Amino acid sequence: MKVLVLNCGSSSLKYQLIDMENETALAKGLCERIGIDGRLKHSPLGKDEYTSDAPMKDHTDAVRLVLDALLDANHGVIKSIDEVNAVGHRVVHGGEHFSASVLITPSVKKAIEECCALAPLHNPPNLIGVNACEKLMPGVPQAAVFDTAFHQTMPPKAYLYSIPYEMYEKYKIRRYGFHGTSHKYVAQRAASLLQKPIEQIKMITCHLGNGASICAVEYGKSVDTSMGFTPLEGLTMGTRSGSLDPAIISFWMEKEHIQAKDVENILNKKSGVLGLSGVSSDFRDIETAKKAGNERAAIALDVFYYKVAKTVGEYAAAMNGADAVVFTAGLGENSAVSRVAICAYLGYLGVSVDPEKNGRRGEEIDISTASAAVRALVIPTNEELMIARDTKQLLES
Ligand code: ADP
Repeated sequence: MKVLVLNCGSSSLKYQLIDMENETALAKGLCERIGIDGRLKHSPLGKDEYTSDAPMKDHTDAVRLVLDALLDANHGVIKSIDEVNAVGHRVVHGGEHFSASVLITPSVKKAIEECCALAPLHNPPNLIGVNACEKLMPGVPQAAVFDTAFHQTMPPKAYLYSIPYEMYEKYKIRRYGFHGTSHKYVAQRAASLLQKPIEQIKMITCHLGNGASICAVEYGKSVDTSMGFTPLEGLTMGTRSGSLDPAIISFWMEKEHIQAKDVENILNKKSGVLGLSGVSSDFRDIETAKKAGNERAAIALDVFYYKVAKTVGEYAAAMNGADAVVFTAGLGENSAVSRVAICAYLGYLGVSVDPEKNGRRGEEIDISTASAAVRALVIPTNEELMIARDTKQLLES
């Protein structure tokens, strides 16, 4: 079985064609500048990379070009479109409608549309991608895999904000959580690495990339997570502020004579380690600046590590202990210095890192010392594979 995984953004489309027999990506690629001009980068397994500047006026054009690339005599990887058995779509927001992945039907599309108000930047392009596939690959089953679904197991005490209950009833203002596909994937892989059933493990999974969130995974289920109503809540991120005193917003609006939208923009795009350091949103640049003696870069990293460590502590409390702390995503997988800095706060829990193991890259590994009571793991995430697995499972069930 071959599954095409699509992740449609407002002007981009990421894709992978995965052969589920051996879970290998036969091709992966990216369409950018959709609706502007158009650029395709296509990387087929075992063949040269192919790029094209063919125009893409909308996502339907982009999907058409992706299918053309997959079928091409030179850089293609399949002979007929019939070889694609299903399409799995990443959908950001499933609201309270979806606690698992689903096959797409007209009523599923309607529910995704209803969630557009909760994710106005993400859900509309996700739906456009679904419609484009319906048009270009009629009859091929499509599945929706939601970033929020894994966190639907959170109990009310974790998902409700302390605001008038009517705000939840009227507008569905509550915590949803994101990065669910990644948290679920790494939790499953971590259980396998620990050689224990996931139903017997309490884990704290740390997805630390440009966007960052932490999840308390108790016996395989998300019971709390750091992102909330939107992906702005929680940790200090590349450009996002994470949690802050909400009174700052009106104070700031009055002082600077700006609108709520402007504050939201600053909190999403100009804050986080970028805002603190003034250097970059990329942790590599900030680590380099710190080494060169830049004090604000050092402070930005300190704020980030401290916040991550405090949140791990919260979740250890939420679950009355933890068996493992798992690091994933760009920074979590690649930055040994960050893992050391974060784990330095976690000695009380029983976390202890082996420097040699921590120095390794690109593998699933337990980086703990032999005697550590709580294991520290590094698990490279693979959201595309998780989407393809869910899609396959839905098709077979
Ligand atoms: P996203 O998917 O949210 O854009 P990623 O998970 O790809 O983010 O993570 C990107 C971030 O990972 C980059 O901004 C960079 O700061 C960080 N990163 C990647 N490699 C390294 C590294 N070797 N050292 C430190 N940080 C790294």
